[in-house]
Amino acid sequence: MSGLIDLHAHTNASDGTLTPDQLIGLAQHNGLDALAITDHDTFAGYEAALPIARAAGLDLVRGIELNSRLVLAGDTHPRFAHVLVYFPANEPSAEFKTWLLEERAERRSRNEKLITALQEREVDINLPEVEARGRSITGRPHFARILVEKGYAANFEDAFHKYLGEDAPSYVERVSKTTEEVIQLARLGGGIPVIAHPVRLALPRVAEAALLEHLQKLGLVGLEVYHSEHPPALQAYYRDLAAKLHLLPTGGSDFHGAVKPDIDLGSGRANNVQVPVDFLDGLRRFVQ
Ligand code: AMP
Ligand code: FE
Ligand code: FE
Ligand code: ZN
Repeated sequence: MSGLIDLHAHTNASDGTLTPDQLIGLAQHNGLDALAITDHDTFAGYEAALPIARAAGLDLVRGIELNSRLVLAGDTHPRFAHVLVYFPANEPSAEFKTWLLEERAERRSRNEKLITALQEREVDINLPEVEARGRSITGRPHFARILVEKGYAANFEDAFHKYLGEDAPSYVERVSKTTEEVIQLARLGGGIPVIAHPVRLALPRVAEAALLEHLQKLGLVGLEVYHSEHPPALQAYYRDLAAKLHLLPTGGSDFHGAVKPDIDLGSGRANNVQVPVDFLDGLRRFVQ
């Protein structure tokens, strides 16, 4: 028992590259006491991994990562926030699962529009070939890989710059619930909402703290303090901020397998993530 856990990891049920059983194998190999599978928009990876984790004696936590539209006064660009939702001691409600089906239908409709926009730009691409990469959840990273393979973009970043990102002419925005709505849906569904990798909000500290305080009042429960993209000083800052705002600290590597090869499960980037097991105890106590 290492006393270490990882509360943020993806399987190939969304945009990770490891199968659920390979992820469980790696969690054991890396000596983790507990793991949360937090695929984008689906529980399929968690559900496939559950019997394997039980047989292996690994504490597996149900989680999910959802996109949300963050609306801030004065914004001219669309802004998004990822919300992790944990179910460490109970099942999601039927309503929450139905809502996920709607989210996935909206994602598919966005993907259809994105294909049309790319074809209008003379790109040779079709939906079946992209969906073949994405299995249950097809996202822009799957589009990006095909654009690179076919020579339309030099690399992943270039594919977003030229074709898929919000400043590209073929960009298609996903219709997303607001961050406030996602937090409320998570709470109604029996889950624990947590703002993921706050560094990506890219907000000045005062604005960020005001936003988190506002969201806490609306039902936000946690803040992802430890993350592969948070340098040590930032982790310390977020840990203090979480305590100050009465938010539970969480943490994880955001492991995606071979698409982010510098990030390892349980330890992040060059060992910058060490999540203590009492963060999970905190989540479990909240539910009770
Ligand atoms: P989707 O949920 O299909 O809209 O895809 C969102 C995912 O695309 C994010 O989680 C990132 O992994 C990736 N992504 C978004 N913007 C960029 C970007 N500018 N460069 C690289 N990856 C990006
Ligand atoms: Fe991802
Ligand atoms: Fe994320
Ligand atoms: Zn993630």
